[in-house]
Parts: sequence; C-alpha cells; structure tokens
Amino acid sequence: MPLRFYNTLTQELEVFHPLHDNTVRMYTCGPTVYNFVHIGNFRTFTFQDILRRWLRYRGYQLDHVMNVTDVDDKIIVNAAKAKKSIEDYTAVFTKAFFDDAARLRLEPPEHVAPATKHIGVMVKAIEELASKGCTYTSEGSMYFRIATFPEYGKLSHNDFSGIRSGARVDVDEYDKADARDFVLWKAQKDNEPAWDTPFGSGRPGWHIECSAMAMSYLGETLDIHAGGVDLIFPHHENEIAQSESISGKPFARYWLHAEHLHIESQKMSKSLGNFYTLRDLLEMGYQPEPIRYLLASVPYRKKLNFTFEGLKAATKTIERLRDFELRLTTTKLPTGTNEAVSERSHQAIREFEAGMDDDLNTAEALAAIFEYVRAMNTALDENQFREENRWDAARVLEVLDSVFDILKPSEQTASQNGASGGRQVAISDSEVEAYIEERVQAKKSRNFARADEIRAVLQEKVVLLEDTKDGVRWKRK
Ligand SMILES: [Zn+2]
Repeated sequence: MPLRFYNTLTQELEVFHPLHDNTVRMYTCGPTVYNFVHIGNFRTFTFQDILRRWLRYRGYQLDHVMNVTDVDDKIIVNAAKAKKSIEDYTAVFTKAFFDDAARLRLEPPEHVAPATKHIGVMVKAIEELASKGCTYTSEGSMYFRIATFPEYGKLSHNDFSGIRSGARVDVDEYDKADARDFVLWKAQKDNEPAWDTPFGSGRPGWHIECSAMAMSYLGETLDIHAGGVDLIFPHHENEIAQSESISGKPFARYWLHAEHLHIESQKMSKSLGNFYTLRDLLEMGYQPEPIRYLLASVPYRKKLNFTFEGLKAATKTIERLRDFELRLTTTKLPTGTNEAVSERSHQAIREFEAGMDDDLNTAEALAAIFEYVRAMNTALDENQFREENRWDAARVLEVLDSVFDILKPSEQTASQNGASGGRQVAISDSEVEAYIEERVQAKKSRNFARADEIRAVLQEKVVLLEDTKDGVRWKRK
C-alpha cells in the first residue's frame, strides 16, 4: 500500500504524491513567541517532525517553511507590560522555542520565516487582494470581504452562506459563531509598533502572514499544509480564502491537522494548574526522549491523553529498546546466519512501514517493533541468533530510530542531572571506553583497588557497568 494521508479538505484518506518532481513543498504554522510554548503545541510540532522524517524515509526531499509569529495582539500587550520592544521581547521566546525544539530532537525546517522580516510580501499580497476587489477599508484597517469567496468554509466544512457582509472582526482568533470579514491590515493605535505602507501605517493580521509567506517561498500551490486542529477555523480557512483569491489555484493539496492534547484526561489550562511547558517537565526530572516518545506514539489524529504514568511507561519502553540494542551489540554469537531470524527482521520493517504509510499510524508501527523485540529476545535466550543476524536486527532499530529518534540518550541527560542532583558530570562515550579498558588492564594485573575505583568513578558519572561472560557491557543510567 502506498503512503496516504487523511486530508481535512476532502475528509478522505488519499494517496500522497508531490505535485512537482520529488520535492515536498510544505508549510506549517509555527509558534507565536509571546511565552514559552506548552507541550500541547509541542505535540503538533512533534507530529510535523515525524511527518518530515517519514517523507524523507520514503525518498522525498523537503522544502519546508515554518513561520514565527513575532507580532500580534498578545505580543504587543506582553511586551508593553514588560517595558520592552517587541523585538527584545520576542527574541527571548524565539530562542527558547528553538532550544526546546532541539531538545525534543525536532528537525529545523528548511526555512524559518519571522513575520516581521516579511512585511513586504504581506503588503504585496494585500495589494493584490485589493486589486481583485476582495477588500475594503474601515477606520484605517483593511478587511477581507468573505462574500467575494463563495467557497469560504470548505476546509472547516461549515456553511457560512448566511453571513452578513460588512460585519467585521479585528482579533486574530475567534470561533465559528464569530465568522465575519477578517482583518488583513490593522491601523496603528496609540504607540503600537507599525510599518508604513501605501494603505497607511499599521501591522499585518495573523492570517495574511501565513498566506503571503507560504506563497512567496513555495509558490501558489503547496503540497502539504499542516497545523493543530484549532487552526482549521478561522486561521486556515482564512489562509485559503486569501491565497486562492490571489492565485485562482488550490492553495494546498493536503491539509493535515493534529488533534489536541489533554493532561490526565483534562483540558490543559492555567486555571486548572495542569499547564506544562517542556521546561516544566524537564525540571521535574523527566528526560526529553520519553516526552518525545509519548508525544509521537499516539497517532496524530487521535486525542492524546498525556499522563505522568504514561511518561514513566515511556521511559521503561525506551529502556527496553536500549537494553535490546546493547544485547545485540555485546552478545557473542556463533558465526553464520539463521534465515528464520533474518526473515523475522525483514517482516518487522515491512510492518513498521505499513503502519507509518497508513496516515502515520505510529501506534501500529511501534507495536510491530515491540513484538519483534520480544521475539528476538527469546531467540537470543534460545541461542538461535547468529553473527550475521546482528546486522538485520540493527537495521530494524535504525529504521525505528530514523523516525522516532529515542535510542541515543540526550547529551544533556548527565549535565541536567548534574544541575539537579549536584553529583553527576557528563562523560563522553570514548571516555567511558577508555576507563573500561583501563579497568580491564587493572584487573589483569590484579590491581583490584584501581578496578573498583574506576567502577566507582563511572557510576558517579551515570554509567552502569556489567561484567558478563562476553566482557564488559555498559550503559547510561
Ligand atoms: Zn499560519
């Protein structure tokens, strides 16, 4: 079965292929940098990372643009409260976002587009809309007249035909009941940050930002546009109205939306006290890998119930996978190959691929790997593994990790523990190997005091040593 995605626009599962050559032109709505990004948003960004990695696994090249909204209502209010310029205010949270994304191992998109650096293309887009008769001005602000776009509502599948033309909405975020002509350019009020344009001094609305930047980087028709479900209306509906009014062509061919995240079965909210940023979770002592795993393990179109039990279970799951990897690399095996074991490895990859191709069904793909690891641990116990089977099995883990990226412990693991525990210091793999070699030599020359000392040093530095009949195995705690 080929790769297919559920398209919000058509409400159908569709086979995916890019419009031109082998490159996937993709746009995803990035963060609004007025605060630290919470893990609900990181669920969506993690889904997009899995999407990127799977497209690449399937042989496509990526041309992915993500915007950074660095001017909007909330930013202006917060920056004023902090007595900072919006540049200074957003710089901190932009950096925080990319630091967090890196800790979650989210690949950076090919292009990151801050809104304030692209005002020119937005002004041009508004001028094109004006020339096509889709806009009007009221009190210095410009609005998109949705009556000029009869297909309005086709993404959210709402019937907006009864909407009164001329009723306007100025805020960037609103709900269906509030569907009205939306703002493209906001006239400057008081001392708000503003840009001078032929249609007056002001700033862009949020929706025109994405339409204009997406088309300027990727052309009139994108392959994929993705975001969270909360963006379907009004944001993405408005993007379609703007872009298609300008080009007369479909704006995006596949619309992919990630569902909400709940915490312990409740909606995440500051008032309920269950609002978490990535930083909160790291400070509580959780590692980035199980957080990434938990966010990725539930298929993106299902609601994700984020629980601390689930986070602990994810930690255990990763440990089991790492233990299997360690066993694979350290167990001494008889030469040759066992065809049955080899075929089981190939089967695991086929099942993993089938799950991922099915609209990124990560749960199904992971289940195939767990079943495989169980079977292979049994095969190792029963001495059915041969030397060459090692490479087939390593390939299975490599395929898994090319998408989920959880097997290698974070560099920060040790230093972060050091910060909270006060005793552990980071140590590189090669330093560990050097210590282990020194310890082997010490034992050979019957210098047991030095051997014990090295074990203590390594244990202090979060490494566990195990003396087995096949030699020394080690892993990070
Ligand atoms: Zn957007």
